[in-house]
Amino acid sequence: MSLFGAEFLRNINQHLSVEGHDPPDVQFTPCGYLFLASEKGAQQLEENAKLQKKLGAKNELLTPVKLKQKFPWINTDGIALGCHGLENEGWFDPWSLLYAFKRKALSLGVEYIDGEAIGFEFKKMPDLLMDGMEPGSYEGVDKVLVRTESGEIRSVKFGIVIIAAGPYSAKVARMARIGTGDGMLSIPLPVEPRKRYVFCINCKNGPGLNTPLTIDPSGTYFRREGLAGNYICGRSPLPEEEPSVDNLDVDHDFFDKNIWPVLASRVPAFEAVKVKNAWGGYYEYNTYDENGIVGPHPYYINMYIATGFSGHGIQHAPAVGRGVMEMILDGGFETIDLTRMSFDRLIMDRPLIEENIV
Ligand SMILES: Cc1cc2nc3c(=O)[nH]c(=O)nc-3n(C[C@H](O)[C@H](O)[C@H](O)COP(=O)(O)OP(=O)(O)OC[C@H]3O[C@@H](n4cnc5c(N)ncnc54)[C@H](O)[C@@H]3O)c2cc1C
Repeated sequence: MSLFGAEFLRNINQHLSVEGHDPPDVQFTPCGYLFLASEKGAQQLEENAKLQKKLGAKNELLTPVKLKQKFPWINTDGIALGCHGLENEGWFDPWSLLYAFKRKALSLGVEYIDGEAIGFEFKKMPDLLMDGMEPGSYEGVDKVLVRTESGEIRSVKFGIVIIAAGPYSAKVARMARIGTGDGMLSIPLPVEPRKRYVFCINCKNGPGLNTPLTIDPSGTYFRREGLAGNYICGRSPLPEEEPSVDNLDVDHDFFDKNIWPVLASRVPAFEAVKVKNAWGGYYEYNTYDENGIVGPHPYYINMYIATGFSGHGIQHAPAVGRGVMEMILDGGFETIDLTRMSFDRLIMDRPLIEENIV
């Protein structure tokens, strides 16, 4: 999925240009990711690297000596192995990508309504028979109730609905009785908001141009932000550290206690950093297995789900969009098989676990 995303971005002009407008500029900065592993995580890192290579990604495994040669600013204490991505990695401006998708969709005739989905209307479909249900008792979803910006409530009839409400997907799913009904409707969509902080720091003599996005074995990461000694960094809280999701306030103690000590030990130049800015955002966190849930809902014949990407949804977005489009238009996956990401895995209890994700 990530390779598909990289290919999509490389050809973004072809995919998302709109006549009469400048081509989209998502400010892609090509730069490898460097995952570091302790003795305990080295085997997993090696297995991940092998799998990624087999699937077409390019990476190199680096011993501590090689790490030091390539990135002299790094302290390799406690590091047994590093894996450095050599192609198709980097960062870009997600807002510009979202805007480019929207502008293209508008140019193709998509109509957007600004509003909040607050409920569904149901429709009896007596002719539809489903395993485990009394004949004649099936009720499908038919309309969505939307509160517009002016406060007006409108009922919108749909042929197909896709639940892709990010951190609030489970809330929208509950409106359709997912997780509150019987049988297949008794299984909730396991997605919830989880607050994550990003800190922007400045360091006068920090690592320079040749700085990959570096991920310490603790999960603490940093990367360069421009060329003026700025970096962004963060780490997901441990389960016992999860902050409240009532607001997006930033806990600066989290940086002082958990992030800065790791940064300063991994990169001695980071002993002297200044936090310049910080912000919080919500992961749409899949509590079941931290991976996207993509595909049809097993009960509703006209509902698809695309959510729960848990921190890697942007890089997967082009592939997910493509997959959902193929399911709807072609009746099945054609270019990328996303079957393993389906809602069915919740029913069959087959988690899709990926080790070493940030
Ligand atoms: C700090 C941070 C760092 C991240 N870093 C990365 C990264 O490096 N790489 C990466 O790939 N991903 C990253 N992510 C994750 C990425 O941002 C998400 O996976 C991605 O944005 C999910 O896209 P989405 O379209 O599923 O959901 P969203 O982008 O959350 O969009 C959901 C939309 O649904 C709307 N909505 C919600 N409820 C309703 C309702 N009731 N009615 C109408 N509309 C509704 C929302 O307003 C929103 O517009 C990061 C996330 C955070 C918070």
